[in-house]
Amino acid sequence: MKDIRSNLEEARRRIAAAALGVGRDPSEVLLLAISKTHPAESVAEAAAAGQVHFGENRVQEARDKVPLLPADLVWHLVGHLQSNKAKYCPDLFSWIHSIDSVELGREVAKRYREREKTCQVLIQVSVSGEAAKSGCDPAETEEILNALLEEEGVSPAGLMTIPPYDPDPESARPYFRGLRELRDSLLKKGFPGHALKELSMGMTGDFEEAVEEGATIVRIGTAIFGERGAPF
Ligand SMILES: *Cc1c(COP(=O)(O)O)cnc(C)c1O
Repeated sequence: MKDIRSNLEEARRRIAAAALGVGRDPSEVLLLAISKTHPAESVAEAAAAGQVHFGENRVQEARDKVPLLPADLVWHLVGHLQSNKAKYCPDLFSWIHSIDSVELGREVAKRYREREKTCQVLIQVSVSGEAAKSGCDPAETEEILNALLEEEGVSPAGLMTIPPYDPDPESARPYFRGLRELRDSLLKKGFPGHALKELSMGMTGDFEEAVEEGATIVRIGTAIFGERGAPF
């Protein structure tokens, strides 16, 4: 494992190559550095190398870490959010990728509204439609999106998915494609483009496949910060 700066450069290079390979503009793809389980010092090192967007998967860990870091970083919550933790989010996150129910979307909206803030939110979809740990059924996406569009305090910005774990990156491709096709079908139904702009998909093991299938945000942890001590 090299240092964080060269890991970031390598990840950016691979994202650009994957984008160019399918005729996409690499600047359409945001590299989100997932810093969960890694200390604030590692985030500071990445920030010094020009990285601005960081993702955490637990509210409590973000509460510990975010105050230690420069205020101009942009934080995304990528993990499951329990309603009772939503009240902490406006102080921490500009983006939440894990809205998977109308109720959670409304709770988040209320909390940001109270603070006169707006959160960029993504709907997390379980593309396979199987009972997954998190993510809504594809058929529920429309209802959640309608609810989010009605609420002040949130600005719906797109969709997110986590495919079932498989070491073969090709096995994730149908899920990435499924998320893109869901987005396209919602656009056809007349939902506004700004609410469906982002596709958050792809991690260390499969981000090139995700970029090839249309990802606009790739969430990369291990390839930047190294292995995590404990499984999350
Ligand atoms: C941990 C995590 C990632 C990053 O995983 P890596 O395989 O380390 O790149 C991406 N998305 C979510 C939701 C995560 O929890």
